[in-house]
Amino acid sequence: MLKGIATSSGIAIGKVYKLEQPEIVINEAQGDPEKELKVFEDALSKTISDIEAIKERASATLAEEELAIFDAHLMMAQDPEYSNQIADMIKGGATADHATKQVSDMMIGMFEAMDNEYFKERAADIKDVSFRLLCNILGQTIPDLTAIDEEVVIVAEEMTPSDTAQLNKKYALGFVTEIGGKTSHAAIMAVSLGIPAVVGCTGIMAGCKHGDKIILDAKEGTVIINPTEEELKEYTERRDAFLKEKEALQVLKDKPSITLDGHQVELVSNIGSPKDMDGVLENGAEGVGLYRTEFLYMESTDDFPSEDAQFEAYKVVLERAQGHRVVVRTLDIGGDKKLPYFEFDPEMNPFLGYRAIRLCLDRKDIFKTQVRALLRASVYGKLAIMFPMIATINEFRNAKQFVLETKEELKKEGVAVSDEIEIGMMVEIPASAVLADEFAKYADFFSIGTNDLIQYSMAADRMSEKVAYLYQPLNPSILRLIKMTIDGAHSQGRWCGMCGEMGGDPMAAPVLLGLGLDEFSMSSSRILPTRRIITSLNKKQMEELAAKALKCQTEEEVTELVNEALKA
Ligand code: PEP
Ligand code: MG
Repeated sequence: MLKGIATSSGIAIGKVYKLEQPEIVINEAQGDPEKELKVFEDALSKTISDIEAIKERASATLAEEELAIFDAHLMMAQDPEYSNQIADMIKGGATADHATKQVSDMMIGMFEAMDNEYFKERAADIKDVSFRLLCNILGQTIPDLTAIDEEVVIVAEEMTPSDTAQLNKKYALGFVTEIGGKTSHAAIMAVSLGIPAVVGCTGIMAGCKHGDKIILDAKEGTVIINPTEEELKEYTERRDAFLKEKEALQVLKDKPSITLDGHQVELVSNIGSPKDMDGVLENGAEGVGLYRTEFLYMESTDDFPSEDAQFEAYKVVLERAQGHRVVVRTLDIGGDKKLPYFEFDPEMNPFLGYRAIRLCLDRKDIFKTQVRALLRASVYGKLAIMFPMIATINEFRNAKQFVLETKEELKKEGVAVSDEIEIGMMVEIPASAVLADEFAKYADFFSIGTNDLIQYSMAADRMSEKVAYLYQPLNPSILRLIKMTIDGAHSQGRWCGMCGEMGGDPMAAPVLLGLGLDEFSMSSSRILPTRRIITSLNKKQMEELAAKALKCQTEEEVTELVNEALKA
């Protein structure tokens, strides 16, 4: 048995398809510039047509949004800045392969060094495109995963974004990779595709051959090659139980989220881009509780996204939400989220610095583009606008006033804008939680951002492993802040949601229900398991549980109370 990193859930049992990528050997000798330039240019055109062909083949099984990765790769391959740098090195005497490797590695290193998931993904894209380009320079062939036409478990050194995008879910039962961590591209894709996968499984490439029988358990992170009859029987039973459970959850897909004693809450999704709407619909979410628009800004490499580009993205999300509410959060940049085309002045504590609504209220030109795009899109669905990092009443009032003025401006231009847009705020700074009853006089709703609320309350950087123990969602101090926020909203007849990670935490659901939370926003994959918990609880009993939890001293005591409640 081999051990790797568990990524998701599910068990796959099947035949090994070993993905053997060609080995790249770089020639570092002096090259003939004219000849090498021709090799590079031919390889680059072949790379572009290869990606176009893969996209064409993959379009038979993938949705439009999933195909977007190939557009990103095409853009990368056609980026003159990239090819010019390589060409310059070749003109200086490097071989085509050496120059390509050097320039690509430099760019990959730059993106990987950024402490941000989005840029790490961009690094994976460059790796992917440059690998294809190098293979074409060296005359090597990359295996074609779209050609697989039988059920297999893919075993690979590493899965690139284009490998995963080529997987046909009908035949790919799961995959195992030799390298990669929990946040590697392959692991993230496995979760979003709903395919069982184990990554970082050292020894798997040497330990199996094409056609071997293989079992992988994505929850435990274990892999068995050529299992015994007994193992096969045990895992087949476990797989069938898992599939049955998954099917049982599907029954809840179109059901409302109502407790045993008839109290209804809303379970909605957190999304980062229009393509995440697939997951929203597949998992029966009742709308979007947080659309993090900063990814739209991070995707753009040379300038802020235009009003039209933003309008298109918001319109798609609103239309696909089929009349459900979509809460769009205005730009939350700064802190750990940087932009390649915008220079932030260095600060000692960027998390406490010039970011989010602070930046938007200071740079109204940037804010205006987004607000106009949002208002224009508002007629395509049920839009709610939410401001991040609100600390004072004046910040909220100024931001809201700016939206209302922009609306008038658009109307004067003859542009249609919905009259039913809710304008609310994130409660993620303790000051706004404490003053929630006053904020509720102006805000139509609150959404509690526990990721930041906990970091600021505990004074514990959410990126730091060393102080990760202070991330204590069930600490009574955090619960009291949450209670103040919910009560504050209700005192003015407003609704209160939660879109931090705690909103989808099964251990928190009973307490949050008891505290009166109206809307729970989470990653789409958490919707159905959370609906099962909510529909099995009694609101009145959870109110008693919450009252006890608020009187506890430690998170451990609250955890114990919740465990008892869930067992009952
Ligand atoms: C939060 O702070 O809880 C939140 C949802 O926002 P983000 O994680 O994007 O900071
Ligand atoms: Mg936040």
